[in-house]
Order: sequence, then C-alpha cells, then structure tokens
Amino acid sequence: MHRTKVRVVEDVLDANNTIARANRDDFDRHGVAVVNLMSAPGAGKTRLLERALDGLAAAGVRAGVLEGDVQGSFDADRLSALHVPVVQLNTDGGFGGECHLDANMVRSAVPALPLDEIDLLIVENVGNLVCPAEFRIGEDARIMVCSVTEGEDKPLKYPLMFRACELVLINKVDLLEHLDFDLERLEHHVRQVNPDARLMRVSARTGEGVDGFSRWLVEAAARASVAA
Ligand code: MG
Repeated sequence: MHRTKVRVVEDVLDANNTIARANRDDFDRHGVAVVNLMSAPGAGKTRLLERALDGLAAAGVRAGVLEGDVQGSFDADRLSALHVPVVQLNTDGGFGGECHLDANMVRSAVPALPLDEIDLLIVENVGNLVCPAEFRIGEDARIMVCSVTEGEDKPLKYPLMFRACELVLINKVDLLEHLDFDLERLEHHVRQVNPDARLMRVSARTGEGVDGFSRWLVEAAARASVAA
C-alpha cells in the first residue's frame, strides 16, 4: 500500500511539472519573468507587494499580479487600487479549496493575464509553508517571506520551503525591539537548510529594506526580457 501511495504522489508531481513547462513556454514567449511569492498566512506578502510595486513602477517595470487565495479577493482588491493588472485565482472555485497553487490552476488563469502588457508577473501563492513548495507553476524564481513573529526555528521545521527559494525576505524587523527574537539565529537556520539563498531584512510597515527587494525584482524582469 505504501508503495502505491508514493507512486501516486510521483505521478501527480510529474503531471504538474508538464503543465508548469507549458506555462513557462507561454511566459517565455511574451518575455515575462514570473516569481512565486510564498509564506505562512499573515507574514506580510500583500503589504510587501504594495510597497515593492511602487519601486517597480519607478524603474519602468510593468508588473502584474496573480493573487491566489482559498476564497475571497481581499488582497486583489488592495493591489488593484495601485493600478496594476490583478487576476484573482480562488482555489475553492473548482479546485477543491486547495492550500496552494499548482501549475494547472495557474494554467487556467493564463488566458486572463495581460502577458503582452507586463514584464513581470508576481504570483502571490496561498499562505501555507508546506504545499506551495512542492508544486512548480512555471516560475523563474521563488521567494518566501518569513516574519520575525514566527519563531527562529521555522527553517528547521519547514526545510523544503526554505530550500526551494532563491530569496528569503525576513519581514517585520520593525517589531524586533518588542520581541525576544534572535534574528542572527533565524538567519543561521536559513543558511543551514539553504546556503545559497539570498537573505534580506525588510519591514513592509516602515518600508525599510523594500528598495532592495524591488531592485531584485527589477533584475529578475531584466533577465527574462534578455532571454526572450
Ligand atoms: Mg496576502
């Protein structure tokens, strides 16, 4: 029985990767860079995006957002106010209320995405530290947000998520003075599971460090347009 179960999981991930490659082909054809933004619920993904989108606009990068949620469009409504194209993808809309986005869900949203009008697509994944890391969606890069209110041991408890990402944003550093939190210890744990990850300390509330995040996104968009 155990062997059968493993086989099924492998098949599911194989099928997902095939669809992810089809997504990737579509994005490449339009010269659009795609980043997959992941975190636990409440780590501050949407607020960080609100901040970073300003920097992208100032750099002349046309960004769009694919907003993944189980239900509702609270975050998409916030981001639409910033005059960027936002497409809402709800996993309870025919996808069984999944706790992550997979390649097939993203595929279903591709026709709604204005790929000719954007240079960078930011996919805000469903808040979850486990499942989103397992499903490629056709992205160029994966980013995770980890906030200082979550505990220094997160990278050791959820290593796959930390290992899957090129960039780890450590958010809410403005709260450090109120917390018994050892930031160096968290960073050490991140490096333990992913020595290659780029680490950035940010505060979506005050804007500290967000310039660096915007620049990273600008460079990601530039790489895709050169490759197209
Ligand atoms: Mg959000």
